[in-house]
Amino acid sequence: MSAGPRSRELYRRAVEVLPAGVSSPVRAFRSVGGEPLFYASAEGCHFTDADGRRFIDYVGSWGPLVLGHAHPEVVEAVTRAAAKGLSYGAPCVEEVELAELMVGAVPHLEMVRFVSSGTEAVMSAVRLARAVTGRDVVVKFEGGYHGHADALLVAGGSGLATFGTPSSAGVPADAVRHTVVLPLDDEAALHALMEERGDTVAAVLLEGIPANSGLLVQRQEFVRAVREECTRHGALLLLDEVITGFRLGPAGAAAHYGVTPDLTTYGKIIGGGLPVGAYGGARRIMERLAPLGDVYQAGTLSGNPVAMAAGAATLRRLLADDGAAYARLEATGKSLAAGIRKAFQRRGLPYSVVQVGSILWLVLQEGEPPRAYSGIEAATVQRYAALHGALLEHGVYLAPSAYEVMFASLAHDEAALAETTAAFDAALGALQ
Ligand code: PMP
Repeated sequence: MSAGPRSRELYRRAVEVLPAGVSSPVRAFRSVGGEPLFYASAEGCHFTDADGRRFIDYVGSWGPLVLGHAHPEVVEAVTRAAAKGLSYGAPCVEEVELAELMVGAVPHLEMVRFVSSGTEAVMSAVRLARAVTGRDVVVKFEGGYHGHADALLVAGGSGLATFGTPSSAGVPADAVRHTVVLPLDDEAALHALMEERGDTVAAVLLEGIPANSGLLVQRQEFVRAVREECTRHGALLLLDEVITGFRLGPAGAAAHYGVTPDLTTYGKIIGGGLPVGAYGGARRIMERLAPLGDVYQAGTLSGNPVAMAAGAATLRRLLADDGAAYARLEATGKSLAAGIRKAFQRRGLPYSVVQVGSILWLVLQEGEPPRAYSGIEAATVQRYAALHGALLEHGVYLAPSAYEVMFASLAHDEAALAETTAAFDAALGALQ
C-alpha cells in the first residue's frame, strides 16, 4: 500500500532536511519499497497515520512499548514528573526508584548506571569491561547489533543487515582492531578463539536473544558454553539485553538460558518510550566507575527525571501481580504465532514463525528456522517486502525490514490478534 497524500507531503518536506527523510535508517522503508507512513498518534496497539488511517502496530517503537502506546499509567507518571521540571542534571528520586526496581528484580544486578540510549549503554559497558580486565579485545557474534559505537559496527544486524553492509564508512580500521566476530551457534569456533586469544579478551558480547538479524534463538548449551569460556579465560560475559531486558521476564534472557552475566546492558523498556539506557552488574565491577573509580563516563541528561518516571511506571506495571504480565505476554505471543502459522499453512506456504515471549519473527523460507545469520536466505527480503505491503492494505503494520522482529504488547488484545491473523490470511491470499 502506498503512503497517503499527507504522509507523502510530509515525506517530501522531510527529505529536504533529514537524510532520507528519517532520523534512523530502517524507518525509510528502503528495504520494503515505497514511502514511510508518518505516525500522527498512537494508543494501545494501534497508531493513526497522518492520513487518518488506523493500523495495528507490531513495531512498538522497536521494543520499548511493552505496555502498548500511551499507557495511562506511564503518561500520568510522565506528566506528573514533567510538571516538576524537565531535567535537573542532579540526583533525583526518580532515578533511585528506577534503579531500585531493576536491582530488586534482577539477581545479578547490584548497581546500575543510567545513560540515554542502548548504544551508550553498550559502549560504556565495554569500556568498563576493558578497564576491569586490563584487556582490549571484545568478541561479538555475526548479525549481533549492539548500537552504533565504532568498535561494534562490525557484522551487525538491524539497519546493517537490512542494507547488507558488513560495517560502516567512517569507522577507522583502528577502531575495530580489537573486535573479533564469531558465528553464532558454533561452540567450536568460540572454543578455538578462546584457546588462542582468551587471555586478551575483555568481554564477549551476546544479544540476550539475537533479534537484530531475525530472531536467532540460541541453544542453551551454546549460551552456557559462552559463559564457561568467559569464566575459564577471565573474560566478562556482557549480555546485551537492550531488547530482551524486562520483555522476556524480570531477569530477561539471562533467566531464559539460566546463565549469569557479568555485565548487562539495557535500553528500550526501562525508559518506557523515553530515551534511556543502563548498564549494570556486581558492585565490585560497577564501583570502578567515576567518581568512585577510574573509568570515566558521564551524561548531561543521564537519569533524566521524566524518562526515569516513564521507565519506573512501566516496570511497576510489568512487575505487579506476581508475573501476570509476563504470562499474558507469553500467551499473546503464542496465540499470534499460532494464528500466523495457520495462515501460512492454509495458503500452502512452507514458512514458519519463531516466537519467544512477545517477540516474533517471520521466517519466509523453508526448513528449520536459522540459528545463525548465515542461515537467512536472501530471497526472504523480497518475500517480506511483498507481504509487508499487502499487510498494510489490511491494516497491519510490521517493521519495514525482513531482518526485524515483531513486538507484541500487553495492549494487543484478542480482537487485535484475530484481526491480525485474518489480515495475514487475506494478504497472503492477495499475493497468490
Ligand atoms: N543493543 C541491542 C541488542 C539493540 O537491539 C539496540 C537497538 N535496537 C542497541 C543495542 C542500541 O540501542 P539504541 O538504538 O537505543 O542506541
